[in-house]
Amino acid sequence: MVGEGLIKGLYVTLKHFIGTYIDDIRWLGRRYYRDEAILTRQSPKARGVFTVQYPEEKLPLPEGFRYIPFLVYEEAEDGTIEDRCTSCGICAKVCPPQCIWIERSNDPETGRPIPAPTNFYIDIDICMNCGLCAEFCPFDAIKMDHDYELASYNRLESHIFDKDRLSRPVEYYRSIRPSDYAVEEAARAEKEAAKNARRRAGSA
Ligand code: SF4
Ligand code: SF4
Repeated sequence: MVGEGLIKGLYVTLKHFIGTYIDDIRWLGRRYYRDEAILTRQSPKARGVFTVQYPEEKLPLPEGFRYIPFLVYEEAEDGTIEDRCTSCGICAKVCPPQCIWIERSNDPETGRPIPAPTNFYIDIDICMNCGLCAEFCPFDAIKMDHDYELASYNRLESHIFDKDRLSRPVEYYRSIRPSDYAVEEAARAEKEAAKNARRRAGSA
């Protein structure tokens, strides 16, 4: 029949149009800020128009999502903070656009270098979110963040992130990348157990 396709197309459009209002009523008052709502509305169960109402609604991020890197630090029970970073400089060497600068620390008495950065900078306008720094870091000290809301009114100094701005506790890393964290911790525990076994065998 002539025009059959056109009628079918109009029917689909109308169905989505009405479905949008039905979905709005179904999620009345619960549409935003709820994981349950966003997960359903981003699944095949959703009806109507699927536009995400950012910033009220945000899509859930996959664990592997990469934005700007951050530096991981450990916090002891007494509140002492220890950077994982040893300022070895590998991340700065492998960074394709060369947007990492590291200021190494020196022992104030001997003047010799010590394995800790005095400062650490990343130019976030240049960073291309490739994740190579995190891949190559031998100390699991730099990881890719999920935080993508970094807009500011000053695009110069505020886009050069320093060590304070980049540092995050290991708990934060665990919260955004639980699988990676679990794999790394298992490898660390295995290495530690092997080291202890060697030590015991040596002292026997
Ligand atoms: S973040 Fe990792 S690779 Fe980069 S300087 Fe620190 S320890 Fe080395
Ligand atoms: S994510 Fe890539 S571009 Fe960004 S700092 Fe790391 S290595 Fe450099």
